[in-house]
Amino acid sequence: MRTQVAIIGGGPAGLLLSQLLHRKGIDTVVLERRSRDYVLSRIRAGVLEWGAVELLREAGVGARMDAEGFPHDGTYLASENRGFRIDFVERTGKQVMVYGQTEVTRDLYEARDKMDGQIIDEAEGVTIHGADTDAPHVTYTKDGSEHRIDCDFIAGCDGFHGVSRKTIPGTVLREFERVYPFGWLGLLSETPPVDDELIYAQHSRGFALCSMRNANLSRYYLQVPLDDKVEDWSDDAFWAELKQRIPEDAAQRLVTGPSIEKSIAPLRSFVAEPMRWGRLFLAGDAAHIVPPTGAKGLNLAASDVHYLYNGLVQHYEGDDEGIETYSERALARVWKSERFSWSMTTLLHLFPDQSPFERRMQEAEFDYLAGSEAAQTALAENYVGLPY
Ligand SMILES: Cc1cc2nc3c(=O)[nH]c(=O)nc-3n(C[C@H](O)[C@H](O)[C@H](O)COP(=O)(O)OP(=O)(O)OC[C@H]3O[C@@H](n4cnc5c(N)ncnc54)[C@H](O)[C@@H]3O)c2cc1C
Repeated sequence: MRTQVAIIGGGPAGLLLSQLLHRKGIDTVVLERRSRDYVLSRIRAGVLEWGAVELLREAGVGARMDAEGFPHDGTYLASENRGFRIDFVERTGKQVMVYGQTEVTRDLYEARDKMDGQIIDEAEGVTIHGADTDAPHVTYTKDGSEHRIDCDFIAGCDGFHGVSRKTIPGTVLREFERVYPFGWLGLLSETPPVDDELIYAQHSRGFALCSMRNANLSRYYLQVPLDDKVEDWSDDAFWAELKQRIPEDAAQRLVTGPSIEKSIAPLRSFVAEPMRWGRLFLAGDAAHIVPPTGAKGLNLAASDVHYLYNGLVQHYEGDDEGIETYSERALARVWKSERFSWSMTTLLHLFPDQSPFERRMQEAEFDYLAGSEAAQTALAENYVGLPY
């Protein structure tokens, strides 16, 4: 088989890149290790920056998001029982869109199917060959037989545990990492959200987040120790703990119900540089991870795709500037989102080895944010998403 761009990974980054390129007449094949049902059942991100919203519209997959998504004008930050709202629109003129990653992925699969896009799922043993030559190819096994795809370029959109980043020699790749000493226990329930907007709650018992997917689907998170197991947390224990960490008025109106999904995710900051090796380009979680506190993971995948998509389109029009500068441009934005996600995580979580001085620093920063329009503008500017 031959294609112009072989895309490894059928998550949001791979599917969005494939869809955008196809609309410009550039041929792609997406290789996904898992089944489609598996990919569509993963519960992950839920907040889209406006740049990501516009990119999804450009890809022709914005209709359901525009009809069913919830534009949010602001968010609420709480510490113990006090708090304040940051108005994104007032501070930046921009909103964010609450629309689940699962829905984004579903819309992208449907759009790819409508255009007869090639997505090969359950592709095993995907291996990249000759990425540093002018004639790269990818091999994989499907239903027991070996296949080969020759291509012009390879897009590594296969997430943190994929093969693409690992293909880049250690002499070329530099990795930067911080692993946080806690995780997030997430619970999804078919209950109305406790508030119209997200509530980020700093608390001496640990951080909590009240989020949502739609008018009857809520997503709540609790900071938990890394060695906690999901089985240790009954639904009742989760709700009781959440009520203690969020402001009293929110706790009183919280509607609880049985969980339909519960999982623990570790928190990590990670960046791999460069994001290009020869004809292999990394995009999304394959190149970087952020702790979810700033809602940036999916949004960074979208901005990488924006740079890569435009670079590849330019290449086929005869101009290589976009692909030559891809890594630098993508990384410049990645590092700023890494900084924001790290600073939100540092501000809002209880660190196990935290000194009394560090706790006071968090409290002082919270007070400063509460009282400073300039500080709120800076937070809002990062939260709604820096320009591409
Ligand atoms: C448990 C969890 C919860 C999260 N929650 C949030 C959140 O609340 N807010 C937020 O902003 N972000 C969150 N994120 C981050 C966000 O979901 C990711 O940033 C986003 O999915 C990145 O998209 P991607 O396409 O780059 O990678 P992925 O979504 O990871 O997609 C990569 C795809 O590649 C496939 N793949 C992997 N290896 C191979 C291989 N060898 N061959 C072929 N295919 C392969 C995978 O099966 C997967 O489908 C969460 C992530 C996780 C893991």
